[in-house]
Amino acid sequence: MTKKSTGGAVMNPWVVAKQQLSAVAESIGMEPWIYNKLSECKRSLIVSIPVKLDGGGVKMFEGFRVQHNLDRGPGKGGIRIHPSVTLDEVKALSMWMTWKCAVVNLPYGGAKGGITCEPAELSKYELERMVRRYTSEIGMLIGPEKDIPAPDVNTNQQVMAWIMDTYSMNVGFSSPAVVTGKPMSLGGSQGRPEATGRGLMIVVKKLLENTGRKPQDVTVAVQGFGNVGGAFSKLISELGCRVIAVSDVSGGVYNSKGIDVAAAQKYAAKNGALKGYTPGDAVSNEELLELKCDILVPAALEGQITSANAAKIKSSYVLEGANGPTTPEADKILEDRNIVVIPDILANAGGVTVSYFEWVQDLQSNFWKYEQINRKLEDIMSEAFDSVWDMMKKSKCSMRMAAYKIGVGRVAEAVRLRGIYP
Ligand code: NAD
Repeated sequence: MTKKSTGGAVMNPWVVAKQQLSAVAESIGMEPWIYNKLSECKRSLIVSIPVKLDGGGVKMFEGFRVQHNLDRGPGKGGIRIHPSVTLDEVKALSMWMTWKCAVVNLPYGGAKGGITCEPAELSKYELERMVRRYTSEIGMLIGPEKDIPAPDVNTNQQVMAWIMDTYSMNVGFSSPAVVTGKPMSLGGSQGRPEATGRGLMIVVKKLLENTGRKPQDVTVAVQGFGNVGGAFSKLISELGCRVIAVSDVSGGVYNSKGIDVAAAQKYAAKNGALKGYTPGDAVSNEELLELKCDILVPAALEGQITSANAAKIKSSYVLEGANGPTTPEADKILEDRNIVVIPDILANAGGVTVSYFEWVQDLQSNFWKYEQINRKLEDIMSEAFDSVWDMMKKSKCSMRMAAYKIGVGRVAEAVRLRGIYP
């Protein structure tokens, strides 16, 4: 299955993910048996989801839950509801989760889920029935000690609450630790809604520290204005950087003097999208990617920076808020042009880190304060950034390769120590 990306290039995220693994396996001299094991997903479940429609009749949807590798702990990864969801996309996202959890050294393996659907075409009740049936269908794979889903594209706290309730009804007792990203009143964690955006902001802080720059001198353009892009834009402008452009699926807005992020968020919440937000000039998503700025942040979907537009990127850094926004061909072009890509498996790991905190709090029924969460997040993200930065310097490689060397290396070590059963 292929997927359309910016510039018309065609890509398959699973092929991209395997190419990235192959490159790092060669560079760290991974044993062929470990490489063979890590090149495949441990389990891929395809489910069909019948949904009763409000107006009568039943519509069928397809859903997936994939566990790429569980050698370091239970599966962890979000659930996405989007028309372009395919098994290959979920497999790729699941593999990236394995590396991401290892880069920030969380005791998790990688998993991911998805439903192929445009949620805007369903009523709230239809969406609830779809999520609940999907949860029941994947019930054989998930559980607090097995695989713990989380939010992703088009899934929010309410969806996580339905997942928690459906799983709990099926097992016969309340099981908050089965899913993260829940509302606070159901065992959710302080700081989880903005955690991915906060993690990205911490990465920028570290980058500026390491390059001797001040936030006031830095301009930022953000593609995607949802959970990740929205929270990041707000936090990065609070840090003092100038957000000169933001966009969502409806298009974007550019203002060289800086966007008032809070006002843009208010407008998007009221109108359902950014389209029509006026203090600034309208830009398309393609144009946003090619704006001159210091830090470009793709925070929407994969396959946005490709061989078709990589030569036109004018930023000094690409900070990957989304998973897999840059194709390997584009990576090469950016590297040749000395544009530094801060890879997804490091950059957007703040979300899974606070999801881990939520899971630990649920298991212990002992909840932490907001400041404590943010402090622990800052510690983990800073340590991960430092180890990737040091590896990049030591190995004279890209930041992506450095992050992969660390993440994939840790997973390979776990596989080596556990061996093959039986
Ligand atoms: P979301 O649904 O909250 O927001 C997605 C945003 O992208 C929306 O503003 C939407 O309008 C926009 N968008 C969709 N299609 C687009 C297109 N073709 N062009 C431009 N914009 C488009 O989703 P999210 O949770 O913010 O996830 C965004 C990305 O971040 C995904 O790649 C996801 O896997 C990744 N991610 C999310 C989390 C998390 O905690 N939610 C954690 C790590 C990584």
